[in-house]
Amino acid sequence: MNIVLFGIQGSGKGTQAKLLSEKLAMKHINLGEMFRQEIKAGTEIGNIARVYIDKGNLVPDEYVYHMIDNYVGLGIKGLIFDGFPRNKEQADYLVKHYHIDFVFYLDLNDDEAKKRITARVRCKNCHQNYNLLANSPVVDGVCDICGGEVSPREDDTPQAIDQRLARFHKETKSLIRYFDKHKLLFKIDANDDIEALNEKMLAIIKKHGKRKSQ
Ligand SMILES: [Zn+2]
Repeated sequence: MNIVLFGIQGSGKGTQAKLLSEKLAMKHINLGEMFRQEIKAGTEIGNIARVYIDKGNLVPDEYVYHMIDNYVGLGIKGLIFDGFPRNKEQADYLVKHYHIDFVFYLDLNDDEAKKRITARVRCKNCHQNYNLLANSPVVDGVCDICGGEVSPREDDTPQAIDQRLARFHKETKSLIRYFDKHKLLFKIDANDDIEALNEKMLAIIKKHGKRKSQ
């Protein structure tokens, strides 16, 4: 069984991918994380990817496919794709090579997404993460651990957040159509809490059993 998870930033996509991978003993494939590791290790593909990422561009599809195939090995079952695919061409590649069984779209409106993203703050000194909706520091703006200044991440300016959300919607429209056409899409209301959201997805997987992608 292979699963694709996608959703706007703040929808809890990464958390759900991690939870599902633990509960179903599947492998969590996070493309962003994979590229970060390759770049850090200074591998050939990491060095190629770095050139694109440093300029703020997306890594071209051919390198993305190459890395996914290398990383998981063709034919391995039990994958959860998080942050991939990003476009219709990538979705087509995935469906053809990896037999996708379920695609979960964690649906959250922009206002709620913005609220959640801006609630994420971090200590400038020790990089401890806080969430102003769930676990804020005891004293406003001051790190519990080191007393450093707690503030939003540098890439979380209102303008940058708006740009990311707009890009997500642009990319996602064609993906939603594509997966819906292939009868793989399950739209999930991401306003629920983490556990309820996870239970909903597990119930769908149980109900529909193992499916064959078309
Ligand atoms: Zn700190």
